[in-house]
Amino acid sequence: MPKVKTPRQQLLDNLPGMPALLNHPEIRVLRETHPTLFVNDLVRRELETVRKTILDIPEEGLASLQADEAFIINRSLDLIRRSVAPSVGRAINAAGVILHTALGRAPLAPAARQAVDLALQGYSTLAINRDTGRRGDRHLHTDRLLSHLTGAEAGMIVNNNAAATMLILNTLAAGREVIVSRGQLVEIGGAFRIPDVMARSGCKLVEVGTTNRTHLRDYENAITENTALLLRVHTSNYHITGFTSEVPVEEMVELGRRKSIPVMDDIGSGALLDLKTYGLPEEPLVQDSVKAGIDVGCFSGDKMLGGPQCGIIVGKRAIVELIKRNPLTRALRCDKMTYAAAEATLKLFLEPEKLPQTHPVFRMITDTQASVRQRALNLKKRVSKLVGDRLNLSVVSGETEMGSGSLPGRNLPSYVLQVISPEASSDELSNRLRRGDPPVFSRIEGGVVILDMRTVFPGEEKILAACLAAAVG
Ligand SMILES: *Cc1c(COP(=O)(O)O)cnc(C)c1O
Repeated sequence: MPKVKTPRQQLLDNLPGMPALLNHPEIRVLRETHPTLFVNDLVRRELETVRKTILDIPEEGLASLQADEAFIINRSLDLIRRSVAPSVGRAINAAGVILHTALGRAPLAPAARQAVDLALQGYSTLAINRDTGRRGDRHLHTDRLLSHLTGAEAGMIVNNNAAATMLILNTLAAGREVIVSRGQLVEIGGAFRIPDVMARSGCKLVEVGTTNRTHLRDYENAITENTALLLRVHTSNYHITGFTSEVPVEEMVELGRRKSIPVMDDIGSGALLDLKTYGLPEEPLVQDSVKAGIDVGCFSGDKMLGGPQCGIIVGKRAIVELIKRNPLTRALRCDKMTYAAAEATLKLFLEPEKLPQTHPVFRMITDTQASVRQRALNLKKRVSKLVGDRLNLSVVSGETEMGSGSLPGRNLPSYVLQVISPEASSDELSNRLRRGDPPVFSRIEGGVVILDMRTVFPGEEKILAACLAAAVG
């Protein structure tokens, strides 16, 4: 008598073979139009994943498990299409966070994109001295610009601000003590926590003061012959309010001078312009820290500066030279694309009055409410034309976040398009938008999908309308 098959065995026996999958008409088209071995491999992996699920799933899950040929074909098609499209590609940011770390932080200025393109057309002058023809110093590309813009003696860029912080700490204080206020032991996210950074840089953290109040005498009392550095950290992503006191950097500098201990400032976002000019709350200015007399400071290149991912170090020339000679600097240096983009971005700050035209982050910040609203209405009209009454659309006021820990809790007024689908839930709609081409990132507020027009580029309305239409089918 034939043995009765278990449901698990039944499912395994019913799995299609590779030839059947590869000969499916839609998969065959993709195998012809894209590298065949790559596509074959993706189909094989998808089949293996389903086989493994059948083997691993608990008994009670078997009845509802999808594992037929149509299912595997659909999953394969999805995987192939995603894998042949660029993985790092364009996205539309309708989420209303200007410096959205997951969407690449600051969008680059056109001038920076052109500079990158130029530097990549062939070889480049990355690290060559054009007077002697010998090996030059790549750090000099940004040195003079950073001096001019911040007032510091010297400047250089490295991989990011986390790298800049570690390099300064490691160069000036490895094996020794660094004094920090308890109110400034920040976590920036993505594993950047001051105590951990300190440990990995080989320094001993000496915490002083309390969470809400630290006084100059706290620093002074903590100084020993093993103290290498006084560190201030900008509490970028939170505010301590109420009964608080922080020591102004000027006073830390005065103490440092008296005791011959250098003072470092992790400035965080690193504004080069007074944001009050634009009706925004203050962010600490790099120039103010330099003027206060810090020995060395660092900030991000892709936050308020709006450049490529990099960390900027400014300070006394002797210290910058020491950092350049640290072997870790070699491991954390930038490549030619970053230098080209950073140089071009910094040059935009030489003509600050033009920034609202030349610099996307400043354009978004300074865009008027009337213009944002107009673009929201324009989008609404376009979408209505495409989908009729399949979506309920309304333009309402909303708020844009600066993001990346800049200006915490201080949002910009904006206008958003509210999108309600009678057929799909808000989660489903935002999910479809995210999976579209190009992907659109929206926000759900009060259970409703909203598209914030302040972070949508002017001119993106047309493609955004098409993406919405595609999302409702
Ligand atoms: C953002 C930030 C960092 C980390 O900068 P990255 O450029 O993301 O590496 C470090 N310190 C402060 C105070 C920051 O705000």
